[in-house]
Amino acid sequence: MGFRIEAGLADEILRELKKSYQIYAPKRFPGQGRFAETDLIRYDEVSALSEIVFDEKSDYPAKEVITPIQQAIFYFTEEEYRASRGKSKPILLFARPCDINAQRVQAKIYAGNGGYEDLYYTRMRERVKFVLMECPGGDDTCFCASMGTNRTDDYGMAVRPDGAGGLLAEVRDEELLPYFSQAPAADFTPAFVTENETAVTPPEIPDKETLLKLKAHPVWQEFNGRCISCGACTLACSTCTCFTTRDVVYGDNPEVGERRRVSASCQVEGFSDMAGGHSFRPTAGDRMRYKILHKFHDYKARFGDMHMCVGCGRCTSRCPAYISVTATVAKVNAAVAEIRGALGQ
Ligand code: SF4
Ligand code: SF4
Repeated sequence: MGFRIEAGLADEILRELKKSYQIYAPKRFPGQGRFAETDLIRYDEVSALSEIVFDEKSDYPAKEVITPIQQAIFYFTEEEYRASRGKSKPILLFARPCDINAQRVQAKIYAGNGGYEDLYYTRMRERVKFVLMECPGGDDTCFCASMGTNRTDDYGMAVRPDGAGGLLAEVRDEELLPYFSQAPAADFTPAFVTENETAVTPPEIPDKETLLKLKAHPVWQEFNGRCISCGACTLACSTCTCFTTRDVVYGDNPEVGERRRVSASCQVEGFSDMAGGHSFRPTAGDRMRYKILHKFHDYKARFGDMHMCVGCGRCTSRCPAYISVTATVAKVNAAVAEIRGALGQ
């Protein structure tokens, strides 16, 4: 059902919703951007419609609400331990289609991988209802249309700013409908981006021989001199899931404290080191190969339904070495064409 919601009423509805839900949306943090006098846009709890940034893509993804950069997973004493309890209220999460589609990927990895279900992911995900933010077109790093993640119907409610401080809304979730009883009905269903400024064609790797030759191709060596292995791209990625754990002890007693799960990055040196000192991916080029093939080949080969990359472009925006994921995939495509040509394919 569609509604037109004036600015004042929108804030009243938000106030009522906050009694039952935690509401997260992209919010502006002035002066906290990467460069001098620039802002950071990231997810946080909001209390008023004016706090929500609709017209710019957030620098960090919506996944930070569901899988925070760090969280306590259990608490321990000398004698016992108990799991952390997680959030108690359900969550309304404002997100663009790319971020909502990213949760299809995260769910496969956290909750559908080899029959193992990650408690910390599923208990958060079960609490989330998405509020689809109609995307006004993204920026020059977005390529959701290429990845098929420009559309979604996984939302309880969809919204578009009306340009006068209010909203047009489509409410599908029965539990949300009563909050809109004061709003006049209006014809509204969200529109979706159909093309981006940037397009990406994931590489076609038809067989193992091509894949092995691609892994050994010199295309990856460029990154030994460019990538500084900071991991910023993976922290900003809508779909990356890697984490490590860290114990935090309370006071002087090392046997009382909590274990935290902390985001980690396959791009950081040492990530793949094993006991005994062997490293699977010792160079930045090795690690870039791993990331790019995971996002644009390996995940789909494993799960079948979609590529891991949702085309949000945040890795390109965040990289301090100006490494563009779209340019990297284009170089990989050229390498694949060269290999297939040599193989007579
Ligand atoms: S690899 Fe880059 S473009 Fe793809 S989902 Fe991750 S951050 Fe977004
Ligand atoms: S953000 Fe850029 S420099 Fe840092 S690890 Fe990723 S690709 Fe390398």
